[in-house]
Amino acid sequence: MKTTTLAGFAACLAAAAAASTVPPYGAVRLRGPIGARLDAMIERHVKATDVDYITSPFMEKTERRQWWQTEFWGKYMHSAMPFWTYTQDPALRRSIDRGVERILSSQEPCGYIGNYPDDIRCGEGWDVWGMKFTLMGLMHYYDGLLPSDPNAAKALDGARRLCDYVISQLGPNGERGRHLWQTGNWCGFASSSILEPVVWLYKRTNDKRYLDFATYLVKDMTEVEAGPRLLDLAIKGISVADRNGYGNGSSHSGHYPMKTNRWKAYEMMSCYQGLVEYYEATGRKDLLDAAIATCAQIIRDEINIAGGSASSEAWFHGAQKQHLPYTRLQETCVTTTWMRFLEKLLQVTDDAKYADELERTFYNAYLAALKPDGSCFAGYTPLNGTRYYGQHHCYMHTDCCNANGPRGFLAFLRTLFQTQGDAAVFNFYASSQASATLPGLNEKVAFDMYTLYPKEGYVRIVNHTEKQLPFTLKLRIPSWSANTTVKVNGKALDGVKPGAYFPVARTWTIGDIVEISFDMTTRAHVMKHHVAFTRGPVALARDTRFADGDIAEVLRKGAVRDGQAMAFQPTRAPSDDFWMAFTASLPVGSHHENPEGRINETIHFCDYASAANLWQPTNACRIWFPIELGPAD
Ligand SMILES: [Zn+2]
Repeated sequence: MKTTTLAGFAACLAAAAAASTVPPYGAVRLRGPIGARLDAMIERHVKATDVDYITSPFMEKTERRQWWQTEFWGKYMHSAMPFWTYTQDPALRRSIDRGVERILSSQEPCGYIGNYPDDIRCGEGWDVWGMKFTLMGLMHYYDGLLPSDPNAAKALDGARRLCDYVISQLGPNGERGRHLWQTGNWCGFASSSILEPVVWLYKRTNDKRYLDFATYLVKDMTEVEAGPRLLDLAIKGISVADRNGYGNGSSHSGHYPMKTNRWKAYEMMSCYQGLVEYYEATGRKDLLDAAIATCAQIIRDEINIAGGSASSEAWFHGAQKQHLPYTRLQETCVTTTWMRFLEKLLQVTDDAKYADELERTFYNAYLAALKPDGSCFAGYTPLNGTRYYGQHHCYMHTDCCNANGPRGFLAFLRTLFQTQGDAAVFNFYASSQASATLPGLNEKVAFDMYTLYPKEGYVRIVNHTEKQLPFTLKLRIPSWSANTTVKVNGKALDGVKPGAYFPVARTWTIGDIVEISFDMTTRAHVMKHHVAFTRGPVALARDTRFADGDIAEVLRKGAVRDGQAMAFQPTRAPSDDFWMAFTASLPVGSHHENPEGRINETIHFCDYASAANLWQPTNACRIWFPIELGPAD
């Protein structure tokens, strides 16, 4: 990857001095069960994508229904190019090259790349949204090539011409006579999220024209009464589900008008992603503050026990309603975009809480959406019920979620191991090999990690750095791990605290061994006469394959209380379809009168990601279990 440290945004780098550095793709090689899932997804999903098929709409330019066929290629590139850098797979590279060639050959002399006829371009529907993803796709290609590769310059030139077209049509005094935020859907969220690749383009070209256009977009995204209002509503503490009714003509009482509504999760977060990029380029801290405030609202009000969110893709105060049968839960696009947002905020702030959330989402909502064979993603992933394929969008054999899904794995991969000055940072724990140059020392460090985490709580990291070196190893201690032990070469260290990084500063010698034991106690979470269970970062579920009774049966009143540590025992899984399986003795059913009925039953649980993973109507799961009510309740 190219480094793009340009004088034009040196000031912003100073502002973000605490930020972690993400090593290049390939610095971390995932092994073990997580590595196997990644390999399967790359092989059966990313590599299996038919690039001719997803680029054909760009050739045809006949879309009059104002749909979103042009998002699929850019989303594919979002992960395809980084995964090519990771695998160096020649077949994947051939597909990528062919796609870029087709996209660039479809570019019109005016710079437009898309599938809308001229008379309806840059207006309603998803035209600007599609151009956003095309810009991203071209820049992912550019980023993955060596600077000397002539295709890199071609891709960047294509991106410049496309952005120049958008500026000519929708920039200040643009030919279309409207502001960009007024196009597309969701109160300007969808189109305005083009901010992110516009700032990327500025960072790669240092051309002030793109920074000026970004500034123009930010003004509309933050200062227009009826517009996205991404700054003031966030800072005033208006939670994400409640941002209608502030000048946009929508209410949040059941209407779902696509044009003016501000509660669409994916598009809103995509805008904040752009605002954080803009902060990095300019140092405008109020925009970062708004993104941080919004992220905190989402964690507090929307994120469920599986790290997922949104019903029908909208914010809905879902954290307090997650036990209820809401429609279309956890769209994979929302899950993936949430992971990208967390990845970015962690990188900018180094606050371990974002890694906590990213880990929770990855092991639960994300892996649950990924079909076990790696071939596709579910559109929606309910907490209780069955898994199912997404729909076909725009009369094409793909959909937004399948196109977006692989990018979520990158958020995990890119965050697992990072560097920070003279420190090597482990955010996540999975069998892997990791190496990178510490920028503060300009020395290379290398590690092997062996673990069955999060199936088990034990992690062993072996230092493979050839040279004896003084540096800091920063280990993220998850907030749920109340009692964590860290040992170096067998000697336990003091001061390990949950929800923070634990720094180990010493002179390291090759072969030094770090051992971590996390607190994997299972805990009960009680909410509104329902209970769910977590073990480490993993939410537990009942699954019909265990054939141990009605998975929706009530638990007896008073049987569990919030935060209670529970005795769950690991057990052999009945088949390889399960990653983790446990038994627990619980008071299931309302049988108080009969003394025999009062005796607990042994029931089975698995990790939520494995639950219902046959993707068949006969295989259901459940995370939230009702607790019986009495006549006085
Ligand atoms: Zn989707």
